[in-house]
This record gives sequence, structure tokens and C-alpha cells, in this order.
Amino acid sequence: MISRRNVITSLALLALALPVGTAQAQDKIAAVASFSILGDLVKNVGGDRVALTTLVGPGGDAHVFEPNPADAKAVADAKLVFVNGLGFEGWMNRLIEAAGSKAALVTASNGVTPIASAEEEEEHAKDEKPAAAHAEEGHHHGADDPHAFQSIPNAKIYVGNIRDALIAADPAGKAEYEANAAAYLAKLDQLDADVRAGVAAIPAPQRKIITSHDAFGYFGNAYGFTFLAPQGISTEAEPSAKEVAKLIRQIKADKVKAIFVENITDQRMIRRIAAESGAVIGGELYSDALSPPDGPAGTYIDMFRHNIKTLSAALSS
Ligand code: ZN
Repeated sequence: MISRRNVITSLALLALALPVGTAQAQDKIAAVASFSILGDLVKNVGGDRVALTTLVGPGGDAHVFEPNPADAKAVADAKLVFVNGLGFEGWMNRLIEAAGSKAALVTASNGVTPIASAEEEEEHAKDEKPAAAHAEEGHHHGADDPHAFQSIPNAKIYVGNIRDALIAADPAGKAEYEANAAAYLAKLDQLDADVRAGVAAIPAPQRKIITSHDAFGYFGNAYGFTFLAPQGISTEAEPSAKEVAKLIRQIKADKVKAIFVENITDQRMIRRIAAESGAVIGGELYSDALSPPDGPAGTYIDMFRHNIKTLSAALSS
């Protein structure tokens, strides 16, 4: 059997055999971002000084990514590799090692206050049948929720980390990075105010998000939503029949009006839960990835505007 590690090593060797540096402008800082949302933040701060490669693109699932030779080459050539951290990109350390990369690894979430995964909190909060609840799980006990980017105050921390890392790697660009970051932070402040106004218009008892995996914990904390998901904080684990049945009971008991599909996950589970609980599908939320540039969530800011519009439309009436 071929291990995943060996596959990655072979990919890296293959990548090293490819011709070097054809397209990249020599005076730009070569950087890699692990996934599309983070890539957009890096682009906004780095501007024209940075040649950016984003590994997990629009609609991609960074929880379960399989790097290819071009990814290994981008990492090998990079001066900076930006990751979300908090256990989001479990594959990145192996990729960096396999690629023989000398890049500085920048964890964009450094400094955010992590929240524990939702299933952990739930189990501590409720004391119902603890033995049975624990028996069936092989998932992430005590793990931090990695989706910190779903809170705009956290994204501002990411932007500060990105700015500081770019300045350290490219001191000549200091003034430009500072100006880009300041301009983008001002846009994020406006976005945050708009999201809060949008949330305020949704009646408080209806501020519930039910979607396939636990991607909106930080969003919920920042903006006053509770949320529930059949799948945990990673898309890797399948929800059990028991967890799904419990969620359906809760949707009925709480008279939840709408539940949401996500752009990165299989929609069948949510469609089944809607059919069995009587809730309607309220639309598609962008959780862990942007849409393609011409879609409704091609940037971080557009993603937030799309998500709050979708939530408002489904939950306000
Ligand atoms: Zn996720």
C-alpha cells in the first residue's frame, strides 16, 4: 500500500523536475495561501508586490485537500506560506516538508481567541446519556474550531498578521503594505457594521443557522447566532444516524424555519434533513471557500455580504 506521505514525496520530486520560474516576475514576493478566503486577504494586503498562488481554490474543501505536483512546486518556490492554522490544513506541514520548502510559515489566525469545537461544548453543556454520546465518536475531542475567519473582527487580526509578515519578508514594501492594510481594514469595519445591522433586523428567536458542518461558530459568537450542524468542525467525519435524528427533533422542537446548504459540502444530507423536519432550504452559505470570481462570493467581503443577505432573506419574515 502506498502511504499518503510517499505520494506527496513523489509529487514533490516530480515538481522539482519541472522547469523553474517561467511565469513569475522576478521582483515579486512569491507567496502561497492555503485556501481561497485567506488568499483574498493576502491579495488585498500584498497588492502588486506579491505573486500569490492559492492552493485550495473556489469551492474547494481545505479540510480534505490532496496536493498535486504544481502545489508542491508553488510551496517549494515560495518565500512565504500563509495558513489559517487551528488545525484547518492538516496536510500543510507534510507538503512543506515534502517540497523541501524554505518558506516562512505564517499562521494568519495567530492572536485570535480560539473556540472549542461545538460538539465539545454541547457535550459539556448537556448531561444527557454521556456514555452513549461519547461511544460513537472518533472526532476531534478538545480540538479548536478552525473557522475563525467567519468573524470580521478575527479577519482584522489575520490582516495585521499578513501585513507584518509581508513587511518582514519585503521591508522595501513597508509603506505600501501598511497603506493597503489600512484601506482594507477600513472596508472590513464598514462590512462589520453592515453585518450587525443586517443581524439586528432578524428577529432574535430566528437567529439560528443549521448547515452541514460546524463552520459558523465564530460567526455565531460575533453576531449573536446559535447554530447546529450534523457534521463536526471538519468535513472528514460522517455524522451518525443518531446525530442526524437528534438534529431533526431539535429543528421541529425549535420551529426552525430554514436550514442552509454550503458551497463546499455535499448537499444531500441537508436536503434530507429539510425533507424530514419540514424546514425549507434557505439558500447556500459560503463557509470555507469563496465562489469563482464571477460568482456571488468571489471575495471575502462579497462572501460576507452574500451570507448575511441569504440569512436575512430566509429568517426575517
Ligand atoms: Zn470547515
